Amino acid sequence: MAPRRSTCPYCGVGCGVAGQASGRDLTLSGDAAHPANLGRLCSKGGALAATVGLEGRLLHPMIRDRRATWDEATALVARRFSETIARHGPGSVAFYVSGQLLTEDYYAANKLMKGFIGSANIDTNSRLCMASAVVAHKLAFGADLVPGCYEDLELADLVVFAGHNAAWTHPVLFRRMEAARARGQRHLVIDPRRTDTAEVADLHLPIAPQMDVRLWNGLLADLIARGVIDRGYIAAHVAGFAEVEAELARTDQSISAVAADCGLAARDVERFFQLFAETPRTVSLFSMGSNQSAQGVAKGLAIINAHLATGRIGKPGACPFSITGQPNAMGGRETGGMATTLAGHMDFDDEARARVARFWGAPHTPSGPGLKAVEMFEAVHEGRIKALWIMATNPAVSMPDAGRVREALETCPFVVVSDCMEATDTLDYAHVKLPALAWGEKDGAVTNSERRISRQRALFEAPGEARADWRIVADVATAMGFGDAFSWRAAAQVFREWARLTAYENDGRRILNLSGLVGLTPEGYEALEPVQWPVTAAGGTARLFASGRFQTPDGRARMVRASAQGPAQPTGAAYPLALNTGRIRDQWHTLTRTGLAPDLWRHAPEPFVEVHPADAAAAGLTDGALTRVQTARGEAVALARLTDRQRPGAIFMPMHWTAAYAPSGRVNPLVAPSIDARSGQPEFKHTPARVRPYRET
Ligand code: SF4
Repeated sequence: MAPRRSTCPYCGVGCGVAGQASGRDLTLSGDAAHPANLGRLCSKGGALAATVGLEGRLLHPMIRDRRATWDEATALVARRFSETIARHGPGSVAFYVSGQLLTEDYYAANKLMKGFIGSANIDTNSRLCMASAVVAHKLAFGADLVPGCYEDLELADLVVFAGHNAAWTHPVLFRRMEAARARGQRHLVIDPRRTDTAEVADLHLPIAPQMDVRLWNGLLADLIARGVIDRGYIAAHVAGFAEVEAELARTDQSISAVAADCGLAARDVERFFQLFAETPRTVSLFSMGSNQSAQGVAKGLAIINAHLATGRIGKPGACPFSITGQPNAMGGRETGGMATTLAGHMDFDDEARARVARFWGAPHTPSGPGLKAVEMFEAVHEGRIKALWIMATNPAVSMPDAGRVREALETCPFVVVSDCMEATDTLDYAHVKLPALAWGEKDGAVTNSERRISRQRALFEAPGEARADWRIVADVATAMGFGDAFSWRAAAQVFREWARLTAYENDGRRILNLSGLVGLTPEGYEALEPVQWPVTAAGGTARLFASGRFQTPDGRARMVRASAQGPAQPTGAAYPLALNTGRIRDQWHTLTRTGLAPDLWRHAPEPFVEVHPADAAAAGLTDGALTRVQTARGEAVALARLTDRQRPGAIFMPMHWTAAYAPSGRVNPLVAPSIDARSGQPEFKHTPARVRPYRET
């Protein structure tokens, strides 16, 4: 039998894979025909076959520790949600969902919550990775639209990595850019850490934590002073330039002042500004280092401002480019998996609410946004949310201030968790556990960072009683009395309905247009080739804004003032170090899948904390020493790695470890829940901390 084509379930690159299953054994390779990776895979994607066994899988519904039937479990979930809504209103329930869900799953969950329960309390864990970029896009472009495509990363003459360690987090894309570099492309990295991406770059700016807005504003002021902004493009396509220029003039934007504030050498800042000024084909990639900040939106806007002012957008090899972390973070943005939008990138205005309600035949649509992730768990803690359904994610590990999240789950009157694994830190708190299909068993669609929709296809039979997430949602919706609107029989039907919802016009504008996919037959869905939205009858769209027309009412992009403010919680005498958290190269999120592949443990087998040698000496730490990492919220224990890759005054800990692997190595209980006021995205990159030897002498 020919290999079946699917998509890697890890990062937002969205690499195609080709797999051949025999029982539960899998032979897997990169899909040479997939435009995202052209056959390449990184260490994580290459180890997928080692992670598809059934050990540790949740294969039957459970009510507490008792095995239950699907009918029992579904009826209980429907009854408890219905009773809670009847007694306390629709705002008393919530769904916390995941970028691991497929588009069909997201669509179904969003439809139930926003259309039939009548609340907007559905938010995705993608809130933790790219919500700031979403808001910046909406403010600047009028809609959450990623302008560029992966081809731009190869066509660019300069790539600026703004808080993006692509070598570890998006390795296949990085390899594509390394190949372009061999042809003369230059790489510039803005990152407090000398990451693997920075190590091989032409220039690394080891910026002081949370000073990015100051640097990008300084760049824009310098571009204006050099006269290299594109006044013709601004006059034709951009509003707000004069206001931003006036704001910049309020601060000393000299290179020496910018460099001093950013903790950088003036000659390096000068070189960055010079390189940017002289390179029309520039792509600025931004990711977690930019987004996971209490100023995440301002950072995104400052990056976009530099591109709008130079007209470097909508052109081959030139754009600001937000890269997503998860395989289907984009799908959640599209289908309304975020509390801040309706489906199809629609806002909560009356016209959009009426359109969605009409389309679904829905009795209710909420009048405004719901609770974003951090707010949602706080509402659970305070008792305002009384029934919570968590799908395909592990917030007891992954949320900031995770100890408080665990307290919230402990006291929540009713917690449902649908997951493919039988034990996670979050499942410990579930009243009802619902077995979901895992990667390799699911059938549906995902959208990668360049808006490319690809199919995930089932490679194995569904094990035990596990079901597709969209079907679990539909069954609960039916048990709640909404069956007519949830009568799908296959993922293809869900997708077709979703595509139909996007084919609307709004003042003559179509934002998320999948009109070319509304007529997909089941065979067409099965055979769907990767395609970038908008998708019309003529096909997909690689690059947006080529015409200079944006999705604002007047068609002009907006330059928006971005003010530099520094971290939400500054360091001080008690906690003098800035704790930065993030991923490591070979692990994914909370280890539920990559932890199963022995080879992936070789890279970093234990929790570690990177410390600059000067800070280590001050704290009495030696390389490899067992170390206490302490913040105002608690303590973790990790091995010290002394390295000058860290800036003095900053430390780094990976975020992956869980109760099953290293309970004392969990870092997120230490992270302050400071959020960006506009996006709700937490500041994972900066919590005041200190380090101590495990046994102090
Ligand atoms: Fe999977 Fe991302 Fe690696 Fe591609 S780069 S194989 S999508 S983890």
